[in-house]
Amino acid sequence: MDLGLKGKRAIVLGVANKRSIAWAIAQALATEGVQLALTYQERMEESVRQLAEPLDNPMVLPCDVQRDDEVASVFRTIGDAWGALDIVVHSLAFAPREALDGDFLDTKREAFSMALDISAYSLVHVAREAAPLLEKAGGGSIITMTYLGSERAMPGYNVMGVAKAALEASVRYLAASLGPRGIRVNAISPGPMQTLAARGISGFTDMYKHAREVSALRRTNDPDEIGALAAFLASHHARGTTGEVHYMDCGYRFLGI
Ligand code: NAD
Repeated sequence: MDLGLKGKRAIVLGVANKRSIAWAIAQALATEGVQLALTYQERMEESVRQLAEPLDNPMVLPCDVQRDDEVASVFRTIGDAWGALDIVVHSLAFAPREALDGDFLDTKREAFSMALDISAYSLVHVAREAAPLLEKAGGGSIITMTYLGSERAMPGYNVMGVAKAALEASVRYLAASLGPRGIRVNAISPGPMQTLAARGISGFTDMYKHAREVSALRRTNDPDEIGALAAFLASHHARGTTGEVHYMDCGYRFLGI
């Protein structure tokens, strides 16, 4: 199926290394002929620049979502270079390690605020900065990454589950706000995948093993299938869906026991 994405312009936030879900999405979009801008957090610059080398001359820009100046500068640079934007991929999250271990009851205010700020508020901020450029393209697609820990208590996922609940609610409110401007907002919810961020969750190994053993497909996600879903959601073929969480978890969520 031709997704009709050739020549579209996308920003992908959240590439850290070759295991990043954002990288799988960037590759899927690049394969469809999408022009890319990749952003990195300062300490990831070298790794992201190396990954970007084989791609067709992408922009590579710094963007820590806790720094308002960097977020503004990224969209100014994209506006100057491209004039408009079609796709935004928000694939990032963070919570202090101590909040991803032990009892949720012990979550401190600072860790709670930081997790919510980076993992949920950043989507609202990025969407607001991107909206004028998406509108100039005649509408667009914003995609973020979530996890089932938003609606079920998973061991060790703790404050990140609360952040994902806020992120999913933000998807719905942003979709309602931006829909009249032709901008769609959706989330993808995969099962557990072996990435840098996942390694910070104390219960991750058990979550991963359990998902492999009991999911209907008896496996966990391959990164490229998440890339494929993101490319579809970015495309004209998905023009009628917004405000939704799209599960691609190898058949885990729907199970009873
Ligand atoms: P990853 O570690 O490769 O990506 C996380 C990214 O977040 C990194 O690139 C990191 O630089 C970025 N980040 C953290 N703080 C930031 C900040 N202040 N400003 C800008 N960027 C910041 O891990 P991943 O698993 O690919 O995570 C991507 C998304 O997928 C996250 O939202 C994560 O919660 C979600 N997700 C992951 C899984 C999984 O099991 N790996 C499952 C479902 C959803």
